[in-house]
Amino acid sequence: MSNFENLLSKPSSNGREARLGSITGYHGCVSDLCERSACGGLKNRERCFSQSSTCISMCAGQQLLGIRDIAIVSHAPSGCCSSAASAAVLSQQLAFLIGETNRSVLVGTDLDENDTVFGALESLRKISIETFKTHRPNALFLTSSCVSGVIGEDIDSLADDLREELGIPVESVHCEGFKSRIWASGFDAADHAVLRGIVKPPKEKRPVINFKNFFESQRTQISQIFAELGVKTQFLYMNSTVEELEHISESLATVCVCGTLGTYLGNGLEELYGVPYVRTINFSGITGFETWMRKIGEVIGKEAETDTFLKRERDKYLPQIEAFKKELEGLTAVIGMGPGYTYEVSRVLQELGIKTVWAAAWHYDYKYDNGQNPPALEYLRKHAPDDIGVSIADMQNYELLNILNTLKPDLYFSRHPGSTVWAIKQGITSVYFADEYTAFGYRGTLELARYIADSIKNRSFEKNLAARVRLPYTDWWYRNASDSMLLQEAR
Ligand code: SF4
Repeated sequence: MSNFENLLSKPSSNGREARLGSITGYHGCVSDLCERSACGGLKNRERCFSQSSTCISMCAGQQLLGIRDIAIVSHAPSGCCSSAASAAVLSQQLAFLIGETNRSVLVGTDLDENDTVFGALESLRKISIETFKTHRPNALFLTSSCVSGVIGEDIDSLADDLREELGIPVESVHCEGFKSRIWASGFDAADHAVLRGIVKPPKEKRPVINFKNFFESQRTQISQIFAELGVKTQFLYMNSTVEELEHISESLATVCVCGTLGTYLGNGLEELYGVPYVRTINFSGITGFETWMRKIGEVIGKEAETDTFLKRERDKYLPQIEAFKKELEGLTAVIGMGPGYTYEVSRVLQELGIKTVWAAAWHYDYKYDNGQNPPALEYLRKHAPDDIGVSIADMQNYELLNILNTLKPDLYFSRHPGSTVWAIKQGITSVYFADEYTAFGYRGTLELARYIADSIKNRSFEKNLAARVRLPYTDWWYRNASDSMLLQEAR
């Protein structure tokens, strides 16, 4: 039995700690991280104090809500569903942008103390049937939570019964918050349910590329690029339909915006159905875009067309990027992002002449589901002029503020607004990298360069805010915090 046949024979995907050896605590540098990953000597460092982070249940729910016209019944207390409203609205708005509607809903079972003692599987059953009658979804997902996990509710058997009864795909999704500290395990839980319950074995090959992403801001541009290469694009999961997902095993290849998001589905489709998974560094920046496009061209047999496209785009944008580099050269930056983008963005900044002095990633998968190190980190190990300081910080803002206070960079880059705010309060200009396509290809790299140049021209907002805000961190704390000492050690 292959790895994924074994994984999918069970109702639950393992958390990343167990499956990929992922960690959430580390201080060191790129070369050390790569070496320890290669020799198996990488150990997680425990914190004696932790700030809150996020939960795999919310992550799985947000992924699945992007699929059009499905329903999720979350077997959880009401608080666990707190992010559902914003996720549902986002999915509706992104469907509207492409002229579609998304009727997907998330309904919670509102578990209370009584349910915790006596169980509430019958409630879950009734609510699932009522949700089906009311919303007529094309698939139903029963998601778990810490509470339903702790009391051992058998959502798998119920899903089997309801599949028979309702005549649509019904799948359990094991995303108990305590199962993993790494919220990306929620991506895997959603992928596991889709691979188990929705995707069908291929009947024929189709000229389609599976494209896994988050918010699709470059949907039109990407569709045009691949149309030029003679293939259609199947975006996942946002705005996909259950029927489209049934056929993703028939595609020519799977690509993803980052390895963290794509590892489970990409490797699963490759191993189970022979759909090649493109694992290069991603499309951010110049080298990233060229490496990524060329690999896709090779996989779909369109090398010549890819080269023609790249040459045309290079001639158009590279001179403009070069002109901006003069304004940016010599700046220093700290990055705080997820484990994929931290290293991808470090590479892009290097191309723009900005020196990354510290890279803080929220977790680290020391291998992906194919057993290899993340390619963006490997690229930095081979091509960064200096070793880069690294911490695995699990969204621990107090550690990040210590790093920023010690290194005092010109810029802070983040993909999560919660940490950006704190950097600005310290007086550091922050660039919010919310859109996964911020540095997409040559054009995106040019726009990023322009955005950074604008950000450093006028720093009065950060200066004024920092002068008026009293942070909870004292000078004494900065001097004495143990992580700061570790930071000095690592430098
Ligand atoms: S599933 Fe657990 S960790 Fe997640 S929101 Fe609910 S109680 Fe919190």
